[in-house]
Amino acid sequence: MSIKVSNITKEYGLQKALDDVSFEVQSGNVVGFLGPNGAGKSTMMKIITGFIPQSAGMVEVNGITIDNQETDIRKDIGYLPENNPLYTDLYVKEYLTFVANIYHLGKSTNKRVGELIELTGIGNEQNKKIGSLSKGYRQRVGLAQALIHNPSVLILDEPTSGLDPNQIVEIRKLIKDIGREKTVLLSTHIMQEVEAICQKIIIIHKGKIVADGSTQEIIAQTSVKGLSVLVEFIEPVNQEVLKRIKDISEITMLGKNTWLLSSKTQKDIRPEIFRFAVEHGLTIITMQQKGQQLEEIFQSLTNQN
Ligand code: ADP
Ligand code: MG
Repeated sequence: MSIKVSNITKEYGLQKALDDVSFEVQSGNVVGFLGPNGAGKSTMMKIITGFIPQSAGMVEVNGITIDNQETDIRKDIGYLPENNPLYTDLYVKEYLTFVANIYHLGKSTNKRVGELIELTGIGNEQNKKIGSLSKGYRQRVGLAQALIHNPSVLILDEPTSGLDPNQIVEIRKLIKDIGREKTVLLSTHIMQEVEAICQKIIIIHKGKIVADGSTQEIIAQTSVKGLSVLVEFIEPVNQEVLKRIKDISEITMLGKNTWLLSSKTQKDIRPEIFRFAVEHGLTIITMQQKGQQLEEIFQSLTNQN
């Protein structure tokens, strides 16, 4: 177990930002911490990293209790805070060396800084001032500083916020690569983000956990609707004939020979559609599982007051 959060409550004056929150993150997983703005994501992450104290409850990282007086455990945690605060007057390499010194990397400092510059793809930027970098490159510097001491646990608070679509794709890829070797908890309010990079999702709303599990489990638990598949055949098909596909509950025509087929079960219906096509001598030229549901589930879980 990498991160164990037990009954954490955080009060800011009269407001409860976190209310009896418990969850676990297993080693080697990339877990999405999802919730609308103000849900309590950053507060939870600051408590996990020991930056602020909780009002009640306990957090353990790799079996060690987090206490905001205790700095030793931070050696095993990398943290990219919200809005990625960086020293804009420092040069990239100079800044990473500075961070490496905080962690007492000693003789290995230069080598490690070089490795991180390479890993995060900021070789051409290393001698520039942080203040002159684009947001995407600053985010890479933020990831490099979070990783410099080779922690086993990474806490990333909205790592793609404010980036343009190309930068988002690049940073997600980088996080996915990093996630192969580390435990990553990343917060986001973007559903597609967790679908793109996370194996597990924890959804928080108004300081309370409202869902926790794999994408499939959450869909099964909440079950707003079954799965839908968009299919395009070369040949025209009669709607009545499509009804013969096993487990199909709803058929919508989207265009010429293009259909949206929905199932009330949580099962992947694509194999059935494929079998149906073969049996009826139809040629499938597009088949796409629709990623809508998780978005709908997120909205249904976080919209009610
Ligand atoms: P998220 O990161 O999910 O957007 P936050 O953890 O930042 O949410 O905030 C959760 C709630 O706690 C919000 O209502 C926010 O206004 C409140 N909050 C956060 N930090 C403070 C603070 N330092 N003082 C008072 N209230 C705060
Ligand atoms: Mg936040």
